[in-house]
Amino acid sequence: MKAIIVGGGIAGLATAIGLINKGMEVEVYESAAAFKPVGAAILLAPNGLEVLRQLSGELLDEVMDRGGRIDQMLLTTYQGKRLGGSMAKEGKHSCAIHRADLIDILKSRIPANALHVGKSFESYQENPDHTIQVHFEDGSHAQGDFLVGTDGIKSQVRQQMLGDLPYRYSGQTCWRAIVPYQLPSNYQNTFVEAWGKTRGLRVGFGAVNPQDVYFFATYFTEPNGQDNRANLKDHLMNLYQDFMPVVTDFLQVTPVEAILRNDIYDLVPIHQWYHKQTVLVGDAAHATTPNMGQGGNQALESAWVLSQCINTKANLSESFAQYQQMRVKKAHKIVSNSWKISQMVNLRGGLLRGLRNKAIQMVPDKVSQASLRKVYALDYKFE
Ligand SMILES: Cc1cc2nc3c(=O)[nH]c(=O)nc-3n(C[C@H](O)[C@H](O)[C@H](O)COP(=O)(O)OP(=O)(O)OC[C@H]3O[C@@H](n4cnc5c(N)ncnc54)[C@H](O)[C@@H]3O)c2cc1C
Repeated sequence: MKAIIVGGGIAGLATAIGLINKGMEVEVYESAAAFKPVGAAILLAPNGLEVLRQLSGELLDEVMDRGGRIDQMLLTTYQGKRLGGSMAKEGKHSCAIHRADLIDILKSRIPANALHVGKSFESYQENPDHTIQVHFEDGSHAQGDFLVGTDGIKSQVRQQMLGDLPYRYSGQTCWRAIVPYQLPSNYQNTFVEAWGKTRGLRVGFGAVNPQDVYFFATYFTEPNGQDNRANLKDHLMNLYQDFMPVVTDFLQVTPVEAILRNDIYDLVPIHQWYHKQTVLVGDAAHATTPNMGQGGNQALESAWVLSQCINTKANLSESFAQYQQMRVKKAHKIVSNSWKISQMVNLRGGLLRGLRNKAIQMVPDKVSQASLRKVYALDYKFE
């Protein structure tokens, strides 16, 4: 059986590895000129790391070698006062890693001749013999038994399958970078998220290795804003000037050319992830805002579950239905909870934000640990 995978991000590459593990043939088609990630670093949570271990123990080892281990997640005020957080329990740590390193590691597990770049998906066509033909913008095509759409939140595969679907703008734009900066020892192996004193203002940071720190910084604004690169650093220094000194320290040394900006959207949850021989995985199926740091982790979970569900002896619709049934509830819960967090960060008015902070502080550790356990668990039973 042969899979045509459109989109060579985390979801596409992980799906390819899962299917190769099951003895299937795969071809991955990426529109960009190279398999390279958009974005600076990514935080892999215990569920994403466990998927990597399931795909291959060596894959996990390599990720842990190249990324920074995170043992503590900390939520604070902009001045560093603790609001909440969690410590890794029973070895269930997280890992902050350069996206480029993660993509490199995943790619290295797929035969080079199965990876194609500069191939922009245009359309697909179901053939009477139950094969599927995929057409690319350069006029070429590929044929397989099924098509996996892993082409991200703006998926063209999904567009053909389900038509136009609504995105939601979270109200926040986000700057991100990896900066050569050594975090003070009290922040080692810790990922901090600090909430500011105006709407949508927040900074998250953690070390991807002893020399480099990854940060993201959000801000409440209209979408489609443009940066003036000449004064971007001053603009950020000004926005985040009240934050704890470590934040202004690493912002100060951030090379302006390293800073990326994205408006934060999600996809209004959809309940159909497959049709006939086509199936969606990752952001194409369940794009979420990054407030729980789960988009990529959920992409990994979906990739792994789909590859486990595909049974070469059963028909594809049954396998896809099982995949969707196993994954949809958890993925949607994360989209919904993550959306709620962005709206909490966006609260208008100092009084409301003060009450919000008090309420968060009152949540017992046991309660937040229990809800994290659900996010981190891989509760899937395969036959
Ligand atoms: C600011 C920010 C911070 C985040 N932080 C985290 C985090 O810490 N942890 C986490 O788990 N998640 C995080 N996420 C979410 C995470 O980045 C995504 O969920 C993840 O990248 C989804 O992977 P994907 O492979 O489904 O899609 P994508 O990463 O979007 O990959 C899609 C691929 O398909 C290709 N493609 C697109 N169109 C076509 C086409 N027509 N033909 C062929 N190829 C095509 C693209 O070039 C791309 O390579 C964050 C997101 C943002 C915006």
